[in-house]
Amino acid sequence: MAEQEMFSSVASKFMALYKERVVKKFREASDTRQLDALLQNNEFARTLFGLSQTLCTRYDSDVWQAKVLDTIDLESIYANVDSMEGSEDDYVDRLVKELLRYFKNDFFKWCNKPDCVHCGNSGEEMMGAGHEGPNSVERQFDCGIVEVYKCPKCQKMTRFPRYNDPLKLLDTRQGRCGEWCNLFMLFLKSFGIESRYIWNREDHVWCEFYSTNLNRWVHLDSCEQSFDEPHIYSVNWNKQMSYTIAFSNNGTNDVSNRYIVKNQLPRDQISEGDLRYLLKTITKRLRSTLNDNEICKLAFRDERELLEWVGGNTLMATKTRSAFMGRVSGAASWKKQRGEDGKS
Ligand SMILES: [Zn+2]
Repeated sequence: MAEQEMFSSVASKFMALYKERVVKKFREASDTRQLDALLQNNEFARTLFGLSQTLCTRYDSDVWQAKVLDTIDLESIYANVDSMEGSEDDYVDRLVKELLRYFKNDFFKWCNKPDCVHCGNSGEEMMGAGHEGPNSVERQFDCGIVEVYKCPKCQKMTRFPRYNDPLKLLDTRQGRCGEWCNLFMLFLKSFGIESRYIWNREDHVWCEFYSTNLNRWVHLDSCEQSFDEPHIYSVNWNKQMSYTIAFSNNGTNDVSNRYIVKNQLPRDQISEGDLRYLLKTITKRLRSTLNDNEICKLAFRDERELLEWVGGNTLMATKTRSAFMGRVSGAASWKKQRGEDGKS
């Protein structure tokens, strides 16, 4: 007994010291000259830094979140969650599953090519006619580029503005993975669910939420109605990827190891040391206003996440419902062209 008491006393002292060290490391001012130099010399660092400035805190708007809750069918969502089997512990996990279902089945639509706004001709028939900049109305809704399609039936043009403003998407309710992920992130945040935006260098984006039940970050892809199937891209779709980075209001993390288990493209955009430094520096800034306990909690969480990947990744997705299934969202020809139909 005495031995055990001694052990726990040593352990708690060690823990206190360890916490102190973690907090001190986080509170240390980072060398801004090193960051400036990195941003000046490396384009990929600039890209990631720019993304962190737009994505990390973007969805924390009370006004935006209230608007989502006003727009969606809360009653049916909560009723569906209640009807799912489960305990109090996994309530949020069930809520997230229901939000995935609601978003894909009842709310948002995949848009490969838009239907003709003049004669209603199906999008399938529309012919691509290039890109344009946004007009003054479209520009109000954070629209970067406008795809233009010609209708073979009435010969008129239809515009497909790629909006980035989530409130506009609440209205248009259509798009591709960028629009899906953008609005679904706001959905999650509106329910107070801790979540982050996952950016992949090879043109795909999705989400993760932190499950306090599972004690880890969980992959979510709203286009695929996919819950905790991180290997669908590299295994099921055969997607080739180089970097996958998470952006949240309390950090930026390299989560490539969770998603890229095969078909790894060269990681040659930045040295691994510089990448770690960059993500850590952004993370420090995001956490600078947190108290010691919160800093420790998040630091331990980061470490636990890294431990998940030690010893190599197992192909978990092959055991899930979508094993070996290609991509669900998007037309067959569009997927084939991207090599994401799981057949290549
Ligand atoms: Zn038409």
